[in-house]
Amino acid sequence: MSSRQFTLADGAKIPALGLGTWQLDGSKGREAIVHALKCGYRMLDCAFSYGNQDLVAEAIEQSGVSREDLFIVDKLANTWHSAAEDCLDRTLAALKTDTLDLWLMHWPSPLNHHGNHPKCPTLPDGTVDFEKDWNYVKTWQTMIEIQNRRPEVKGLGVANFGIKELEAISFTGVLPLVNQVELHPSLNQEKLHKYCKEKGIQLVAYSPLGSTGSALLLDPDLQVIAEKNNATVAQCLLSWGVAKGWPVIPRSSSPDRLEQNLNILELSVEDIDDISRIGKASPKRYVTAPWHTFEEIV
Ligand code: NDP
Repeated sequence: MSSRQFTLADGAKIPALGLGTWQLDGSKGREAIVHALKCGYRMLDCAFSYGNQDLVAEAIEQSGVSREDLFIVDKLANTWHSAAEDCLDRTLAALKTDTLDLWLMHWPSPLNHHGNHPKCPTLPDGTVDFEKDWNYVKTWQTMIEIQNRRPEVKGLGVANFGIKELEAISFTGVLPLVNQVELHPSLNQEKLHKYCKEKGIQLVAYSPLGSTGSALLLDPDLQVIAEKNNATVAQCLLSWGVAKGWPVIPRSSSPDRLEQNLNILELSVEDIDDISRIGKASPKRYVTAPWHTFEEIV
């Protein structure tokens, strides 16, 4: 499985499965990353705002896996849009790497760099404190300009972009290589997937298991398909994503589940169609944020 890849618009290869590092903290988090790398994960999905880049760097070092064999994704934090290059430098230093395979805009939501909170600054009335005189289009132009002069950034992408935001940056002539979005059978993003496919933008599935406390893992229809395949529901969800055509980046802090998730199955066309039908009637988004309003649910 670890060798399976998708090809991005610039010809770069992205592994079909990576490790999500959100909320992987402390020694348990570090050990999980070390274990993942030792058992074959080669893509790490990281972010400045996860506050654990040092820990990721320690885990890489401890695993003995060399940088050349890894695909590292990191993301520009919302409160750093107007200081993007500074965020990039801190990211490279914290991860102890000379390069990022992909650098993504984490959200199309620039927040006050000098506000009262490093992740979600607020105004006195409690509403989100957005960066004044700034917008995500300006951020995208800045990221392009940085990539043109900095070989450290191999590829650019975005996350949490809908069609509206992708259209708004298209005049730059530089489309993101990937758009990382919440993507699972309860949020199949059909419209966005079709649009991105036409434009050559690779979707990447975050929260592919339905995130923390996932209701999908308990879905009775998925349990039947899992039993039929002598597999787990998590394996079916990840295999469905890869079969549909996008990399998946599940997170786990458990060695057993990390190994389990690595095992992508070849599902039958019938199983893929059955999984696609789950959640279609009542789509659900599990990850929301106070700084962004999503336009389309599907
Ligand atoms: P996931 O969909 O990966 O689900 C993680 C949860 O599933 C954890 O509670 C984990 O528990 C559990 N789990 C993992 N494997 C199994 C299994 N085999 N069986 C049962 N339970 C399992 O959630 P995330 O929201 O973390 O998404 C994955 C990654 O996507 C993030 O870590 C992050 O890197 C990225 N992401 C990006 C976002 C963005 O804005 N760009 C937003 C959200 C996520 P346990 O640890 O106990 O195994």
